[in-house]
Amino acid sequence: MQPIGLFGGTFDPIHYGHLRTAFELWQELRLAEVRFLPTGSPPHRSQPLASGELRLRMVQAAIADQPAFVVDDREVRRTGVSYSVDTLTELRAEFPDRSLCLLLGMDAFLGLPNWHRWRDLLRLAHIVVAHRPGWKAPTMGPLGEVMVDHGTGTIRELHENTAGRIYVHAVTQLEISSTELRQLIVAGRDPRYLVPDQVRYILRETRCYAPR
Ligand code: ATP
Repeated sequence: MQPIGLFGGTFDPIHYGHLRTAFELWQELRLAEVRFLPTGSPPHRSQPLASGELRLRMVQAAIADQPAFVVDDREVRRTGVSYSVDTLTELRAEFPDRSLCLLLGMDAFLGLPNWHRWRDLLRLAHIVVAHRPGWKAPTMGPLGEVMVDHGTGTIRELHENTAGRIYVHAVTQLEISSTELRQLIVAGRDPRYLVPDQVRYILRETRCYAPR
């Protein structure tokens, strides 16, 4: 059975950098689906500006025309801080024999040692790292060490094992970030061609990042 891709993020808001990365990884890694998991209350960073409900709505609107993309609302529904290890533990119980691939941008991967019980993530899933503009794969420190122990250069290993490998994959580099998008909207500029139109309509309707 093909692996399931798990793409977590604040998605505050979702943009074409997220969507193109998910699409290329879905195609090139031959994933059964990519499951978008908007985070509820992220532990490693400042709290999102848009509510969980609204970020979920924007993700739903962005992926509506791509049947292989699905949204999973469990972290938004959960009260308290969202830890990826808890989400992966739940998903592993739901899919005991399935390969699970946690999809991360390189910037997120470099921050992994700050995540709660981060080494346990590799018992539960593979980690697939998408190159992001300006970021280099680590060769030293704790991440350099796990790369030596768990790194693989073949997609086949992600299909033949249910968890435990780290695979780095280059994707088309779109230098878009949610932070810059929010700044652009606050400055009164149009995010056209950076986010899908369906998301743009929601941004316009709710004025969720507009100055108060
Ligand atoms: P912010 O600017 O608020 O930090 P972001 O644009 O980085 O937001 P997140 O929701 O924090 O978006 O990211 C979710 C995931 O998507 C992370 O794994 C991140 O590395 C990845 N990601 C974000 N932007 C891009 C991009 N332009 N290209 C590839 N991956 C990206």
